[in-house]
Amino acid sequence: MIHTPPRILAIDDTPANLLALGAALAGEFDLQIATSGATGLALARESLPDLILLDVMMPGMDGFEVCQRLKSDPSTQHIPVIFVSAMSQPEDQERGFALGAADYITKPFQVPLVLARVRVHVRLKLKSEALEKMAFVDGLTDIPNRRALERQLEDELRRARRGKTPLSVLMIDIDHFKAYNDSCGHGTGDICLRKVAHELKNSLMRPGDFIARFGGEEFCAVLPDCDADGAALVAEKMRQAVEALHIPHPDSAVGPYVTISLGCATGLLDGASEPSSLVDLADQALYRAKGMGRNRVVCHTRS
Ligand SMILES: [Mg+2]
Repeated sequence: MIHTPPRILAIDDTPANLLALGAALAGEFDLQIATSGATGLALARESLPDLILLDVMMPGMDGFEVCQRLKSDPSTQHIPVIFVSAMSQPEDQERGFALGAADYITKPFQVPLVLARVRVHVRLKLKSEALEKMAFVDGLTDIPNRRALERQLEDELRRARRGKTPLSVLMIDIDHFKAYNDSCGHGTGDICLRKVAHELKNSLMRPGDFIARFGGEEFCAVLPDCDADGAALVAEKMRQAVEALHIPHPDSAVGPYVTISLGCATGLLDGASEPSSLVDLADQALYRAKGMGRNRVVCHTRS
């Protein structure tokens, strides 16, 4: 996320340099300053700036080391770093780029040039974040897509194993959706998908709960630290919420409105379950829910 205004961290041991940068950037950016490598690194980790201007020659931890540490920390590695240094030899600049710097400006710097380069790199960061978001969001419903789900499942399963907490997965399917599309048209079908997605998302109860479009008219929810009873509760809440939308379904064997069927599965705590198997178990339960007449919740039980 880019801050508004974008947040720039300047790390330089010479106060005069910081003053000059401050004067140049003040109107347009939220400027933070640090006068040593160590304090700059700590501040970067804490405030996650959108860009870092980094001096090379500093007592103690120099700029190259700061950059190396920023780039090896997953929480800060995406922050663009621009070196601002009196070391103007090509090999100094090469070293900076090899460490992952976005740019290298030599001192004495010209303020308009610094400003122009800062703007370019902030804009690039904004664009790459937008692309990243697009890659993980379903374009139709605006909720996370299947790729995002896979990533989330892996993260949550790892967390569940480490913390020895239960992890539940819900597979959700809109009942007789093909018939809905056939009688109402695909445009109306898309509107229905959006409404259901929105309602499912609103039914989640805790901040860590996650819902994605699995594909077609199928959705999948991931509920961390949630046992089988908790999962059944969330699932039933979703079922009721969608039914209560009262979206007319002219061609459903279940009833006059659009309904959903849900299958739940809760992960084993012995580390034996894989993300795919948890989804498979929930899918099997969903299949049973359909077999039993749809518009219901079925939980997988271990035999
Ligand atoms: Mg210096």
